Amino acid sequence: MRAAVGRAQGRRGLIVASFRSPYNFRLTAGGWVSERTVGGLVSALEPVLKQWGGTWVAVRSSEHADLPAHLDVPLEQPSFRLVWVGLKEREVSHFYHGFSNRVLWPLCHDFWERCHFRQDYWRDYLGANARMAQSLGKASAPGDWIWVHDYHLALVPHMLRKLLPKSRVALFWHIPFPPAEIFGLLPWRRHLLRGLLGADGVAFHVPLWKNHFLETVSRYLPGAEVDPDAGRVLYEGRQTWVEAIPIGIDVQSYQPTAEHVRRSLQLRRGLRKRQVILGVDRLDYTKGIVQRLEAFGRFLQLYPEFKRRVVFVQIAVPSRTRVPEYVEMTRSIEGTVGRINGQFTTEDWVPIRYIYRSLPTSELIPYYLVADVALVSPLRDGMNLVAKEYVAANAEGKGVLILSEFAGAAQDLKEALLVNPLNVEEVAHTLGLALRMKLAEKAERMARLRERVLRRDVFWWVEQNLGLLSREGRSAASAPVPRGAADGSPSRGA
Ligand code: UDP
Repeated sequence: MRAAVGRAQGRRGLIVASFRSPYNFRLTAGGWVSERTVGGLVSALEPVLKQWGGTWVAVRSSEHADLPAHLDVPLEQPSFRLVWVGLKEREVSHFYHGFSNRVLWPLCHDFWERCHFRQDYWRDYLGANARMAQSLGKASAPGDWIWVHDYHLALVPHMLRKLLPKSRVALFWHIPFPPAEIFGLLPWRRHLLRGLLGADGVAFHVPLWKNHFLETVSRYLPGAEVDPDAGRVLYEGRQTWVEAIPIGIDVQSYQPTAEHVRRSLQLRRGLRKRQVILGVDRLDYTKGIVQRLEAFGRFLQLYPEFKRRVVFVQIAVPSRTRVPEYVEMTRSIEGTVGRINGQFTTEDWVPIRYIYRSLPTSELIPYYLVADVALVSPLRDGMNLVAKEYVAANAEGKGVLILSEFAGAAQDLKEALLVNPLNVEEVAHTLGLALRMKLAEKAERMARLRERVLRRDVFWWVEQNLGLLSREGRSAASAPVPRGAADGSPSRGA
């Protein structure tokens, strides 16, 4: 991409589309302020748009009804444009809380028994995707590249094909893609597959999700020709490249500063210099938080010598609090924390510290620094950025990453201690192993992990994705031009 950009002629832009806005806005005494929203997609893309400029089209939430239909953001130091798509309360409820979060999310994470296949959800999903496609049509100029994100907007590429036949469209699918037998349960499976194949390129994090997609297309989309070796689908006279491109992080943002180190030392003192196990997640049933807590409880039984010498800090970010499954999950986690703490707490030691709120990155990094072990154990996860952030922050190589083999990140980060998160005994013993690991082994493993995380960062990921759009017949000279790049090469880590 950097080479392609260097050859670019004329000004073309990058348009990003996602359900979620990259910012929340809050009215303060001094006026509106913007705050970056929490989540893998925003953490990855916001630094890129800040550096490159462009437009981000997202759904407007009800709290932002008083703000104009488009804004230059971040408000404090504008660098790109945000365009809102306004939806009615019922539409958001059915499209987002319904079809996205109660159908596609559980289905793609293999929790098919949690799916609610409701026709009214589907109707508003269709409507919301059409509105998003129309807004994209209005926001884009000829030659712009449109990069659609995630399962909320699966129908948009096909819809754009009709509105903007000459546009270049890529879609990144940020969650797992399930095996064909599971995706095949979806009553609207053909619409979804056709929607995605409207893009010139569709990308997933890892080969497993890509292969599941190709297998699903060949099984359930009559008329589609799949070439699994080339990673290409021919359908309705068009071709779509299908790739596995693991998302990276903005490594620079996770390099500890002197202030982070100072704060981590303070945290360690507050924890009485005990060893620290850390969990960081959005509160979601796919993250395996209850199973992880159970494994920690089992670890304390199996390794009683660690009692009073270790603390498990679990940060859980409130998420989808209007969806009943999430309310239930919150209660279940709180109950498990209470039970284990009730069982093991002594006069001067509480084994689990449970933090139920979202921390800004500046407060999260000191936790990454203080953690002797990061326990990242989702039951299913498209990638899991927390694992990569922990590695990036661990410049001294003193930490150990325990990682679920069911996270996309496990296909990338092989030097982590890999576990089956449902195997409580295995996770408990792996905690014992990690807390006793010799410094030399820790440093060796971490050095290898860091090499990969630092090399395949978020800029690499963007480059690979946009590269999908310039394949075969697509001229590299028409790549988007990053704002202010004198030689066309964006500097890293803005
Ligand atoms: N995160 C954060 N504050 C918190 C907890 C998490 O900013 O208190 C961020 C974290 O740094 C990461 C993202 O939320 O960038 C979570 O991404 P991940 O891929 O792990 O999971 P997702 O939420 O996308 O399923």
